[in-house]
Amino acid sequence: MPEECLFCRIVNKAVETRFLYEDDTYVVFKDINPAAPVHLLLVPRVHIRSINDLLPDHESLVGGLFSLAAKMAKEQGVDKSGYKLLFNVERGGGQMVFHLHLHLMGGWQR
Ligand code: 5GP
Ligand code: ZN
Repeated sequence: MPEECLFCRIVNKAVETRFLYEDDTYVVFKDINPAAPVHLLLVPRVHIRSINDLLPDHESLVGGLFSLAAKMAKEQGVDKSGYKLLFNVERGGGQMVFHLHLHLMGGWQR
C-alpha cells in the first residue's frame, strides 16, 4: 500500500471515516465535498491508480463496483429518481485522488 495514498489510509482506518458499507473487497463513504445531495465514493480496498491501470484480473472487481453502486443507490433512495456514476481518469479527467474510485451522485430535485 502506498503510504501517501489518502484512500489507502482511509481503507486501512489510518484516517477516520465512517463507512456506509464495507466488505473484504470494497468500502463506501460520503464524499467530503459533495457535488450532489447524495455523493458517495465506492472504493476497492486494493490500490489501483486509475482505470488505466486495470488488469484482466480486475474485471470482476470492477463489475462488482457497479452492482454495489446499484445497491447503494437503492439504500440511499435514489435508485428510482436516478443518479450518475463517474470515474475521473488522471489529471485531465479531473482525478485528484489516485486510488481507483467510482462516484455515485444523485438526489437532485428535478
Ligand atoms: P477524484 O477527483 O479523484 O475523482 O475524486 C476524489 C474525491 O475525493 C473528491 O470528490 C473529494 O471531494 C473527495 N475527498 C478528498 N479527500 C477526502 C477525504 O479525506 N475524505 C472524503 N470522504 N472524501 C475526500
Ligand atoms: Zn491507495
